[in-house]
Amino acid sequence: MIQSGRASPPFTPLMRQYQAVKDKHPDKIVLFRMGDFYEMFGADAEKAAPILGIALTSRAHGKAERIPLAGVPYHQIDRYLSKLMACGLKVVVVEQVEDPKTAKGIVKREIVEILTPGTASFDGPDGERRPIWLAALHEPHGKTIGLAALDLSTGVFVVDQGPADEIIERLRLLEPSEILFSSALEQATVAHRLALANGAAQLTPFEEWNFDVRAAQRDLTEHFGTTTLDGFGVGDDPLAVAAAGAILRYLRENHRDRLAHITTLSKLDRETVMALDFSTVRNLELVKNLATGTEEHSLFGVINRCRTAAGARRLHQALLQPFKTKTPIELRQSGVAELVANRDLSDDLGQRMKGLPDLERLAGRLGIGRLNPRQAANVKTALSAAAQVGSILRGAVSPHLTSIGGGLPDCGDVIKRLDRALVDEPPLAMNKGGIFQPGYSDELDTLNSSIKDARVYISSLQAIERRRTGINGLRIGYNKVFGYYIEITNANLSAVPKEYIRKQTLVNAERFITPELKEKEELILSAEERIFKLEETLYQRLQDFLSEHIGDIMHTADLLAELDLVLSLADVAVERGYCRPDIFEDTRLKIVNGRHPVIETVLAPGSFVSNDVDFVAGAGAIHILTGPNMSGKSTYLRQIGLIVILAQIGSFVPADKAEIGLVDRVFTRVGAVDYLTRGQSTFLVEMVETANILHYANARSLVLLDEVGRGTSTFDGLSVAWAVVEHINDAIKARTVFATHYHELTGLAELYERVHNFQVAVKHWEDKVVFLHRIIPGGCDDSYGIEVARLAGLPRSSIHRAKQILRLLESGKFTRSELGKGVYKQKVQPTLFERPPSKVEERLKDIDPDNVTPMEALSLLRQLKELL
Ligand code: ADP
Repeated sequence: MIQSGRASPPFTPLMRQYQAVKDKHPDKIVLFRMGDFYEMFGADAEKAAPILGIALTSRAHGKAERIPLAGVPYHQIDRYLSKLMACGLKVVVVEQVEDPKTAKGIVKREIVEILTPGTASFDGPDGERRPIWLAALHEPHGKTIGLAALDLSTGVFVVDQGPADEIIERLRLLEPSEILFSSALEQATVAHRLALANGAAQLTPFEEWNFDVRAAQRDLTEHFGTTTLDGFGVGDDPLAVAAAGAILRYLRENHRDRLAHITTLSKLDRETVMALDFSTVRNLELVKNLATGTEEHSLFGVINRCRTAAGARRLHQALLQPFKTKTPIELRQSGVAELVANRDLSDDLGQRMKGLPDLERLAGRLGIGRLNPRQAANVKTALSAAAQVGSILRGAVSPHLTSIGGGLPDCGDVIKRLDRALVDEPPLAMNKGGIFQPGYSDELDTLNSSIKDARVYISSLQAIERRRTGINGLRIGYNKVFGYYIEITNANLSAVPKEYIRKQTLVNAERFITPELKEKEELILSAEERIFKLEETLYQRLQDFLSEHIGDIMHTADLLAELDLVLSLADVAVERGYCRPDIFEDTRLKIVNGRHPVIETVLAPGSFVSNDVDFVAGAGAIHILTGPNMSGKSTYLRQIGLIVILAQIGSFVPADKAEIGLVDRVFTRVGAVDYLTRGQSTFLVEMVETANILHYANARSLVLLDEVGRGTSTFDGLSVAWAVVEHINDAIKARTVFATHYHELTGLAELYERVHNFQVAVKHWEDKVVFLHRIIPGGCDDSYGIEVARLAGLPRSSIHRAKQILRLLESGKFTRSELGKGVYKQKVQPTLFERPPSKVEERLKDIDPDNVTPMEALSLLRQLKELL
């Protein structure tokens, strides 16, 4: 038996050839081309068969042994490869590189491709709507990190360099399929990074010297055909350059030599693009729903009406990187506005875009030299559609749509050539002929016509011979060993003509040939071989021709994706009644009748209660929002963040009116999320997120805080919350909404001019509380927790008892140990009503002036006021 893919001697020559590959790549599945199949042997076969849902068989090996074997048909390889990639496996593809017919001895085979989760150009686990990132991290010393990430399927190549925290945030948002890191890094660091990158990525150690910056500069400039990398804005980022260089090297190592579609390196420009942190993206559920981890009920899920995968990928990226400057926002808005107003134009364009092949990824296949003939036909379909889109856009008036229309390159030549070359439905394989139309190549036409008669002869032979012999079951067949034959069942053998020559005996039938049949066969096979070769050469030339136009193809793909995104935004705006927000460069933020874009789609139509928010420019106010649990505080908080982000990607927003002063970054600290799996306490995470906000937020930021301080004891938590608000008020001055159940915080409004109180309106009705979900000015001083408990179905007796305890605690007169039921009855209840008013003097005695908590300070202030 082969163990772990190792054959035990004696090897057949074939297995020796196989083993040589396997020895070099013990960690990968080897797909070994044999005839019409890719075969896997030994442990590879055992591992892959259940993943691919194929039969596991065995093959004779040596005298008494058999080895496990599993194979997939060559023409379906893409489908199987994507399944292996989705399971995080690496694959080596070994092809026959000479013709088995002419080979002397065993057919020569070579590795033609190595696929890893990050270098495959197939869909990742999230399908076609996500990029497939191969990332590389270079961190020679812990503080500054260089990051590079490539989506090989489309050629998008990004780099970044900065403080460790920032870069790791970026990495987490990319959710790479595979991360390369220097093998010199400590295992612990790597494990930590992996945890941060969601654990989904394949971690690939790569030798230290691959991260050499000089070599990287040389390789990259050579690849891009430039003398320096300054034009890409990475002159000052040696670590990022080193990481990008490592990616190129890794690709080369994996036999990815053709990379025509990687035409540029782009650096995240934090001046123009908002760098959201992972927790904000997560908390606001921009691209994934927190509870389910899927797109459904995320912002992306609600606003994605894209008709193409490329449009969806672009929208996804847009949400993670909203704009920070007015010009691109207003440009995209102009496109959305025109499509909202002109639904006929929108319908026309939508019709053209629907079902369009993924031109971006087709360019990727072309770039790596693996565009199959059927995909080439798809390129033609997409480019023809683009040309039609271009003519429809001639009727557009907005700056955005006219610039898309005007920017579409003229691909007429490419379309014409493809149109002339390809048959209507070309095959997947490029070496089995049937790709080209008559008239495309004289040589091909001559070859084809030379065997036309022979083909007609064979295709009509069955009917002719049936008639001649009177045998209705007579059949003409073909197989590789015997070529063409005439098959006759045993029952009819008596009628076989004399000139038939017996070739093979089966259980129920005999197979015959005739000299004429063999003559024609010889003619066909020898010509077909030449036809296949010629078509393959012609197809390579066609690919080369397309590669020369890859820039135009990619540019077209880019513009179509943008158009698709704008169409999607317009559809949502119309359907859900969004408005066009006005964008300002100051720090105002005014939303009239704003709604939560996701929650409003979940509730019954018309039942979502809209709310306003109003921050005046320059003031940087803090809104303290109090209200019962489940009354809608988080919803309100998130909806402000979502509206701002929608506005800053150039979308319309769910509100009647919105004035958005550009936000440089949205920070959130929302809800307690379960981080226990990462070994951190909820409170610690909460504090890490809060510290992050206090460090990075500034007067242009939007800060949304929900329940800061909740994960610890009341007094602790309250003190922290208080101090955080003070810090934002004194040092940051960001537009801030702070939702809290600590109603004591409403006292801050009395101390600071910029702090204002808001509450969620509730209605008391027959001893019950009804949540109206409406945000109104003023602070609420009751937590309503008991009401929520009652709504949730806690027993009546518990509710009654909870009310008693609340009253006790609020009286402030009793220690926790005195809360026993008996105590309440005998001693406490009467005294509740006899409680003397507090005296400031009395209180002051107990207080250490250097160590007063914010709550104590507030309480003092209140009491002083009362006394005065
Ligand atoms: P809180 O943060 O105050 O605990 P949430 O914001 O989580 O409350 O809201 C609880 C539930 O109340 C939501 O899931 C939603 O169903 C409903 N809700 C919240 N805001 C609104 C609103 N404006 N209109 C209608 N229903 C709302």
